[in-house]
Formats: sequence, structure tokens, C-alpha cells
Amino acid sequence: MMHPYPKAVTPGTGLRLHLNENTGGPSPAVLEALRSLAAGNIAFYPDYSEAIAAAAGFLDVPRENVLLTNGLDEGIHAASLAAVRAAATRDMEAVVVVPAFEMQPACAAAAGARVIEVPMGREFEFPETEVLGAITPTTGIIFITNPNNPTGLVVPRETILRIAAAAPDAMIFLDEAYADFSGTTLITDGLMTTSPNIVVGRTFSKAFGLAGLRCGAVVGSRPWLVHISRVLSPYNVNVAAAVALPAALGDRTHYETYLREVRESKALLYAAFERLGIPYWQSEANFVLATFGADASRVCRSLEQAAIYVRDRSEVPGCEGCVRITAGVVDDTARCVSALEQLLCGTR
Ligand SMILES: *Cc1c(COP(=O)(O)O)cnc(C)c1O
Repeated sequence: MMHPYPKAVTPGTGLRLHLNENTGGPSPAVLEALRSLAAGNIAFYPDYSEAIAAAAGFLDVPRENVLLTNGLDEGIHAASLAAVRAAATRDMEAVVVVPAFEMQPACAAAAGARVIEVPMGREFEFPETEVLGAITPTTGIIFITNPNNPTGLVVPRETILRIAAAAPDAMIFLDEAYADFSGTTLITDGLMTTSPNIVVGRTFSKAFGLAGLRCGAVVGSRPWLVHISRVLSPYNVNVAAAVALPAALGDRTHYETYLREVRESKALLYAAFERLGIPYWQSEANFVLATFGADASRVCRSLEQAAIYVRDRSEVPGCEGCVRITAGVVDDTARCVSALEQLLCGTR
């Protein structure tokens, strides 16, 4: 099965509410750190000790349980390759819960795995029974995204642990790209010993606003991290990201302020959807999925005319009629909401 990964249309200008980026930008300390890069920093291969220490400190785990990656995308890619290499069989299966973040099936397929898609329920309930039922002796990796993209819904902790226990030889890749916004993570002191097959992926693209620099991390037990590190190149993260990361993680005020803006923006979107009679899902991430039914594509195209970009997911199986809108800077959300209201109650 082919899983091409088409890049979303990415206009440089206009209001970008289609890729869950931080439109407010990173901490000023990041720009400061980038400006302080000297010729030597750029000429030499980067040293990651400060960046790893900062990531380990932020995630509250020992340094040896963290690998930095060129965005979480690379983490997904490397985890897929590592699972295929570690598998005892040549026809390894990757279980993906759909609708999914496209990189998961794309990377699993690129690594040579057979992708087994398990659909969510009609209201995007997590299909625990079906995932458990999909586990076979050839299952090498199971992707779980918590909170989920594109729904913003959470997967209960017990569900994740039950799946991990049911597939002890497989890697459970827990994509926590949006954990900053939900405030919950499975990364704890005990995780590496109680569920050594869970590898957690994190990104600094979303809450910390570093998407352009490409920086993420994978966290897990040593045996799985060793497998993953074997498929990563030694200088996978560039020097700009390496100096930016400690600066970003060091500015907790900027981070907390942004998390508050996201919560306020979600409340604005919920209120607007309620006024407009548009069903939506309560989100634990920095976006909201709503269903515009047959109007979805028309709404997206009309917003695009006003240079407001949202993510049309209406063609994605299981997501029919749905549109995903980033909730970030409150002023941006307010602009999107008023454009939506004009569009949907244009005659009033
Ligand atoms: C955005 C996103 C990523 C990728 O993040 P990068 O660090 O920018 O590569 C991974 N997983 C999910 C679910 C995402 O939404």
C-alpha cells in the first residue's frame, strides 16, 4: 500500500491556522541565541550536551533516556526503521489508528512494514478492543497519538498500558506532540521499567514555536533507544536548533503564556461553533476539529480567499466533512471566527 506524504499548501503570508504551528513565534531568548551563533559554531559539527541536558530536564528523565531528533517527524521515521530492524520476522506489521497523523503510516510503509489500519469509532472513540485484536506475532510497532491529531481527543492512560502489555515485543510509539497542551504525559520515572516497550515522541515545534528549526525528542528505555540511535545520523540536529532548544525551554513564562492563549482561543472557537450550530470536538491540543458537513471544502476555500488557511480534512476517510483549525494567538483566532461568522451568516 502506498502512503505518500503530501505537504500541505504552505503560503508564506496570510493567517496560518492549518498546521498547528505557534503563530506567536518562539521566545525572544531563541532569537537571541540564534544571533549569538559565531562563525565557529557554524563551521564545526554541533555539540548536543546542553540541548540534551535541557530536554532531559524539561521532560524530567535521565539524559540517557532521551534522543534528539530532527523534528518528531524524524523520530517517527527512525522508530519505524528501528522496529523493522529489530523484528524477528521479515513481514513486520505496523498498527496505525486512523484517522492518523500521516507521517505514521507513511514512515512505517517507507521502512518496509505492512501497515494495518484500525479505524476509530464514529465519534473518534479510541478503538482499544480492535487494536488489541490487531496484535499478532508479527506486530512490530503500534502508533498511538495522545492527544490525537486531528481530533484533539485523549487516549486513557490505562488503554495505552494495556496495549503495551499485550504486545511486549513490539514498540508502542506514543506520539505526544500535543502533550504540552493537555498537560498529561506518560513520561514518568516508572515508565521505562514498567513499560519498557513504550517510546514517547515529543516535539518543540508546536508549544515552543520551533517548527522551522526542526527539533523533537524520543524518550524511552535504553534497549529501544539504542535500536533507534542506530538508524539516526550522528549530527541529525543542526547547530541552530541545538542552541535554540535550551533557550526555548528556559523561558517558562513565554511557554505558560502561550498555553493560556491556546486555552482562550479554544474557548472562542467553541463559543463560535455553538452560535453557528456547528458540531465540534472538545480538544486537549492546540486545534479544534469541527464538522461542516457538505460545506467543508467550500468554507475552506472561502477562508482561503481571505488569506486564512485552515485544514480541510473532509476527504480523509473517517473525517468526512471535518475541518481542523489551529487555536493559538487569540487575535488570530478572533479574526478567523469573524471571517467564519461572515461566511456562514453572510445575509444577516
Ligand atoms: C506536528 C506533529 C508531529 C511532527 O512534529 P515535528 O517535530 O515538527 O516534526 C508529529 N506528530 C504529530 C501528531 C504532529 O501533529
